[in-house]
Amino acid sequence: MAVKKKDLISIVVPCYNESEALPYFYKEIATVAKSLDADLEIICVDDGSKDDTLKKLRILAQNDSRIRYLSFSRNFGKEAAMYAGLSAAKGDYVAIMDADLQDPPSLLPEMYEAVRYGKYDSVATRRKTRDGEPPVRSFCARAFYKIMSKISDTELVEGARDFRLMRRRMVDAILSMTEYNRFTKGIFCWVGFKTKWLEYDNIERVAGSTKWSFWKLLKYSFECIYNFSTVPLDISSFSGFALCILSVIGILIVIIRALCGVPSANGWASLLCVILFVGGLQLFCIGILGKYLSRTYMETKKRPIFIVRESEEDIKKK
Ligand code: UDP
Ligand code: MG
Repeated sequence: MAVKKKDLISIVVPCYNESEALPYFYKEIATVAKSLDADLEIICVDDGSKDDTLKKLRILAQNDSRIRYLSFSRNFGKEAAMYAGLSAAKGDYVAIMDADLQDPPSLLPEMYEAVRYGKYDSVATRRKTRDGEPPVRSFCARAFYKIMSKISDTELVEGARDFRLMRRRMVDAILSMTEYNRFTKGIFCWVGFKTKWLEYDNIERVAGSTKWSFWKLLKYSFECIYNFSTVPLDISSFSGFALCILSVIGILIVIIRALCGVPSANGWASLLCVILFVGGLQLFCIGILGKYLSRTYMETKKRPIFIVRESEEDIKKK
């Protein structure tokens, strides 16, 4: 009787300067692997780290055949690292997980159970709390999710992490979206599929420090708005329209006053304010237009999302 082959689960781990956290991560994932009724491959993507991350990955890959790695030619960002990992994954199921243990590997068995029998295509996670995070950051994050849910067709879930386990079919759908400006949280929602949500309390990173400054996060959230909504364009055309109406009303008032023999106010200050306001609004709207245009420009260049400098295949060849 043929023995049914075990499923293969690929775990994609973006790593940028994670040399301190990697040993903890490996220890934890090795423990969890024992309780999983599936084979595992762990694909660590070194996103152009400046510390010893690559060195540690080489050693891990030499000692454990389940560990694979890709090393980028420079820092391409977490989005690119996730895409590279998903492209390299061979598994029937693929998980994305941070290297700092903020995405607890101990949830994997529960996630695998949920997708295994086909009831769900993916199991995603969200943080219930934002304990340990600066209050300004939490406030901005909440505001961002509120605004996004209003202006985008793609339903983003508040506190959603990139940590999720997906069936091959969903991974292939994500890989078919080859856009250069990537916002994976939005792409997960956009491709659809049945998703189960697991919640957990926020966990502080095990070692090292966060790679996201406040400004980097703010830029990232604008990336999401431009990628998944065209509402800013609507706002700019609406404000232009509203100003036109306002100016028509203004002209009518001036004419009526002139007809009634009442002279119009002769202040240059008010005129200057109006000119400045309209000029500013025009620049603002051109700016919004430029944002969309620059994205179109980058997409038409068809540049690769990432460039690999080294992988575990290179060790095997030596
Ligand atoms: N990361 C990456 N490239 C980057 C920034 C971050 O691959 O340019 C990885 C990082 O190594 C970690 C994950 O993305 O595994 C999440 O980063 P971090 O923990 O710094 O973010 P936070 O959890 O603070 O939001
Ligand atoms: Mg983290």
